[in-house]
Amino acid sequence: MITVTEYSGRNVAVYGLGRSGLAAARALMAGGAKVYAWDDGAAARSKAASLGINVVNLDERDWGIFAALVLSPGIPFKYPEPHRMVRRADKAGVPVIGDMELFASALKDIPAADRPKVIGITGTNGKSTTTSLIGHILAEAGLDVRIGGNIGTGVLELAAPEPKAVYVIEVSSYQLDLCNKLHCDVSVLLNISPDHLSRHGGMAGYIDAKLKIFANQTARDVAIVGIDDPVTQSIAMGNSRPGQAHVIPVSAEFGLAGGISAVSGHLYDSTGVSAMKVGNLASAPALPGRHNFQNASAAYAACRALGVSAARIMAGLQSFPGLAHRLERVDVIDDVVFINDSKATNAQATEQALRTWPRVHWIVGGVAKAEGIAPLDAYLGRVERAYLIGESSQAFKKHLTGKVPLTECETLDVAVRAAFAAARQSGEKDPIVLLSPACASFDQFKDFEARGDVFKNEVANLTEKTDIAPVAAL
Ligand code: ADP
Repeated sequence: MITVTEYSGRNVAVYGLGRSGLAAARALMAGGAKVYAWDDGAAARSKAASLGINVVNLDERDWGIFAALVLSPGIPFKYPEPHRMVRRADKAGVPVIGDMELFASALKDIPAADRPKVIGITGTNGKSTTTSLIGHILAEAGLDVRIGGNIGTGVLELAAPEPKAVYVIEVSSYQLDLCNKLHCDVSVLLNISPDHLSRHGGMAGYIDAKLKIFANQTARDVAIVGIDDPVTQSIAMGNSRPGQAHVIPVSAEFGLAGGISAVSGHLYDSTGVSAMKVGNLASAPALPGRHNFQNASAAYAACRALGVSAARIMAGLQSFPGLAHRLERVDVIDDVVFINDSKATNAQATEQALRTWPRVHWIVGGVAKAEGIAPLDAYLGRVERAYLIGESSQAFKKHLTGKVPLTECETLDVAVRAAFAAARQSGEKDPIVLLSPACASFDQFKDFEARGDVFKNEVANLTEKTDIAPVAAL
């Protein structure tokens, strides 16, 4: 755990007692602060109390005593409108911060020679993949890495700072919003497209939050910027300078002088005088598709910035096991390949999946986003058949009718079996059954993980059935 001493002997309010709030309370207490914690949910409050945290109704306190309010990242800060706790803090002149700010504060006072390195990763899509990929490559190269933040372990729950350690931290726009001191030795901004706009008061606010990944960087630091969308392209070209850092552009679309590129998976390092071919990402099985070529280029640039050799990085890219629910190769049964991309909860994410293979049996549907699946029209030529599930079925049926063959399945188990049967009989070589719903999951599942797990279970059941079938035939 990380200890935060900045508030030693002072009073700090902590609102929102989910995992990050509990960790913040404990990190502050360990550093000598007096914590006053609250959550509107009784279960969260009793959990906090059982951990020895001082639970106090913040609606009834005099806010004059607080040196800061630590807010959980998911709670509205300024937009669509400030949460009542934010209004109380503002009225009393109490700064509002988040867990990333406490982490930054804990590292700030360590003398530079002993301070661990920080790699901060943000972007609209690909954060988790790139964070775990960088963590994997550095760990394989023998470094002492701590991976967390918006992925897996909360940033304040990571092991305490030690010289030579490297923190590889996924940072969301919500966390950046509540943070001013974070200093990344290496920052990564993958891409920016409209997302979470209501929380940031529009696109300008969202971009401003993302740009904070570069705040406090000096000329000794490195800023890695994906340039495959217009917003980040403009940032990399210096229209809004990423602080003082040395900028390394990365791309899966263009070859680049001075940067890293992975057009069609051919990874090139052109940061030196001449372009150097690093390798072919076709040999990295967990990183299929153009979007993963972007993630791999950024990971390469980040690891090079820490001095890892190109050969070691390539070995790490090849041995990366991949993340569950993101184009996860689940199994191959009777030559049919099953891919779980349950994390694709919007059309943009599903676009990455559809452009990865020339032909797919596509399981799609759930709770549709505002834009539906219209942005995917350009890729429908790759769809052998669509298998509709969930609440969006009628709307998607209307949209897809006449464009691709359809099967209405309603539930995922039916869809898996129907897609398997059709794929097996299709005569295609290595047909793909792809779950990439382009929708949220909560009409039928707790979350995208539960949806992906059901898919995997159903695929496992197919194995059992095919195993049983020949016996039954005897
Ligand atoms: P995040 O943590 O930013 O949500 P993930 O790494 O979990 O991103 O990937 C989520 C989904 O986004 C993946 O299933 C994939 O479809 C898509 N994706 C991943 N990387 C990228 C990228 N670099 N650009 C666009 N889409 C991506």
